[in-house]
Amino acid sequence: MLTLLQNVQVYAPRFLGRQDLLLAGGKICSMRECIRLDSNVPVTVVDGEGRYLLPGFIDCHVHIAGGGGEGGFATRTPPIRLTDITTAGVTTVVGTLGTDGTTRSMPELLAKANALEEEGITTFIQTGSYHLPLRTLTGSVTDDLVFIPKVIGAGEVAVADHRSSCPTAQELARLASQVRLGAMLAGKAGTVNLHMGDSRRMLALLEEVLQESDIPMRHFVPTHMNRNPYLFEKAMEYAAKGGNVDFTTSTVPAYLEEGEIAAYHTLKRLKEKGIPLAGVTFTSDGQGSLPRFNEQGEICGLDVGKVSSLFQSVADAVRKDGLTLEEALPVITENPARIYGLQGKGHVEEGFDADLVLVEPDTLAIHSVIAKGRFMVRDGKAVVTGAYH
Ligand code: ZN
Repeated sequence: MLTLLQNVQVYAPRFLGRQDLLLAGGKICSMRECIRLDSNVPVTVVDGEGRYLLPGFIDCHVHIAGGGGEGGFATRTPPIRLTDITTAGVTTVVGTLGTDGTTRSMPELLAKANALEEEGITTFIQTGSYHLPLRTLTGSVTDDLVFIPKVIGAGEVAVADHRSSCPTAQELARLASQVRLGAMLAGKAGTVNLHMGDSRRMLALLEEVLQESDIPMRHFVPTHMNRNPYLFEKAMEYAAKGGNVDFTTSTVPAYLEEGEIAAYHTLKRLKEKGIPLAGVTFTSDGQGSLPRFNEQGEICGLDVGKVSSLFQSVADAVRKDGLTLEEALPVITENPARIYGLQGKGHVEEGFDADLVLVEPDTLAIHSVIAKGRFMVRDGKAVVTGAYH
């Protein structure tokens, strides 16, 4: 089936002005200022009415099979639903286990990723959880990357956190080299996603690994880098040196009161210091639990992270901090596609996957979401739902 999208203002993420797009076979076949088809060609014509057309958003840190559990079994979060992802404009997710690698498993994570792919979006996973040695699918991190197409890296591995396995620099370097080897053999980017905790050691371990080993910096993606003011200062230093930094968009008011930097605000702060945003990504930490700890380190409450916070944060960077959409949009499109090596993703471009989001120009509210050429959301409502919706 052919779909002709007419009269849209394209942010590719670079602004390309008014365009028509022809979608077929899940791809963007053609993008021109004006596309006219012969009347005997069967095509669905959709008038974009001047709305902004953006690349489908990429969220590289989502607990798709559920996460949490830090307050006992009853606090384990449930698996995510397709519509929690699609109504947020997200068309590509990278699933991750998280804190619990004991009652949660890699087979369960892979099965959930396969389910979401069957339901219409694009999914990948990271192998392992918080603790080293990692629990894998095949028994080897390298083999997981080589043999399982959906595995694109390892993580999230906890460092500088009271819930971590207190990994040494040597252990972390060994893990990174296993990822690097598997990625090279399989033609993948190979990322090591590091969960950064509140410890004052911050990036010390990662800096030691980069100094003492020959692993290129691009393999590491430290996340939650906005969780407190001192880690954010380090994030700015690390990004200035060319490192990747990931900011988490899910939050609760209490975190912000305690000093967390709202993800949307990180871009303005980096820009003011003249730090390039090419290595910056946003992820939602969706479906993870958001535990609140008291001064004794005990859990005193839980919330669930929302994938919808991803684009909300980009929109807030535009609305509240005055960035242009061209400046802010790459953190959930072009940048993750490049850092995680996601072919055909992150751009509105001929030959790329037809993963697209239509938003209202004035409010940036999501109007429609297309994944691999198929409308998942239309007029703000999900038109495709998962099997058990
Ligand atoms: Zn985490």
